Amino acid sequence: MDFETKNGHLMWDGCDTVALAQEFGTPLYVFSQTMIEEKCQELQRDFVEKYDNVRVAFASKAFSTLAMLKIIEKQGFSLDVVSDGELYTAVKAEFPAAHIEMNGNNKSIEELEMAIDYGVGRIIIDSLQEVALIAAIAKEKQRVVDILFRITPEVNVQTHSFISTGQKDSKFGIPIDEAILFPQIKQAIETPEVNFLGFHFHVGSQLFDNEAHLAAVGIALDLVRLVKERFDYTIKELNFGGGFGVRYTDADQPKPFSYFTDPMMAQVLAFCEEEQFPQPAIVIEPGRSIVAEAGISLHKIGAIKELPGLRKYVSIDGGMTDNIRPGLYEAEYTGILANKADQPAAETVTVSGKACESTDILVKDIELPTVEAGDIFATFSTGAYGYSMASNYNKLAIPAVVLTNDGQAECIVKRQTLDQIIQNEEIPSFLK
Ligand SMILES: *Cc1c(COP(=O)(O)O)cnc(C)c1O
Repeated sequence: MDFETKNGHLMWDGCDTVALAQEFGTPLYVFSQTMIEEKCQELQRDFVEKYDNVRVAFASKAFSTLAMLKIIEKQGFSLDVVSDGELYTAVKAEFPAAHIEMNGNNKSIEELEMAIDYGVGRIIIDSLQEVALIAAIAKEKQRVVDILFRITPEVNVQTHSFISTGQKDSKFGIPIDEAILFPQIKQAIETPEVNFLGFHFHVGSQLFDNEAHLAAVGIALDLVRLVKERFDYTIKELNFGGGFGVRYTDADQPKPFSYFTDPMMAQVLAFCEEEQFPQPAIVIEPGRSIVAEAGISLHKIGAIKELPGLRKYVSIDGGMTDNIRPGLYEAEYTGILANKADQPAAETVTVSGKACESTDILVKDIELPTVEAGDIFATFSTGAYGYSMASNYNKLAIPAVVLTNDGQAECIVKRQTLDQIIQNEEIPSFLK
């Protein structure tokens, strides 16, 4: 991984990470605003400014905090939310409602009411009862709701099966099936409380190959043609989801956004020209690829356990509670000792978390300088799905989050206190 050092310390966006660990404590998430904005700039230049009628919606589940949503809003991007909590965060960040898109495979009535009350820009339908449900709520509130259908394009992707979503047997999306999808489309066209805009797909996550996206675009365009033929109805919007891969370790070779978006747009534009079709709005929903590499985690090394001839475990003061991805789907990470960033590797160790699970291993067999208690281990590329999947397992506190910007650093999420961990707990009268 590429990184800068100063006085033997890992530097991040102009900040000394060892000093950050001292000032804000560990475990600590550190996000570089500079690096997030660099990714956004790439999207602006190679997608938003390059093509007409296209949008980027940040998939907020990757990292949803008030400060992050401000960064996204400043870019003029839209926001994808999938729950009342993510929508609430957007409302509290005063994110423009019209730029919010609501996904989710099981939205509750309360969530739909909340979304319609706030006036979100799009609701993406992912279940067979949803059109009727939305229509009923919209009628009561005298609103018309813009909708898309999330389809399962039935493409197989090269990623861990736990994070692939576009295959037929999936809890996500509506199968492209005569008997299932077409009655839904007919209903949507005929229901005055909804404005049927088009289709959405999301084929999977952490993809390095554009094949699945391109196959799915082809399928979506076939549907556009079919809907025109069958219903004389013109699709106005297509959402191609996210899933663009990032670098977690040196083995990952991520591609620029344009590797995905250019051929997708070429396909759309060729289709529109051939079929004499007005170009639908094209939306992409990157999450991971905007924030993953901009974030690192800092942990303090504690117990060191050498099992002769077997393995040396060095334990950190966090683990699966602040980064569950290794335990959840065998995700790989790499890192360095932030306070020995200039020193050569001297031993091979396994960095383990402090939670009571044997899968709580952050990095297996990593080469580091001689590790001592008190060293600061920095894990790279933890910006996506680290903080957002954090838990209180073992009643460990959720770490603080710091945002850096060219040498400045400020706390954007305070460390949870022990009182906050149990603040909602009560002892019932019959136990007193
Ligand atoms: C998770 C998700 C995304 C973002 O995926 P990334 O891999 O983080 O880019 C986009 N759209 C939908 C519907 C999702 O579920």
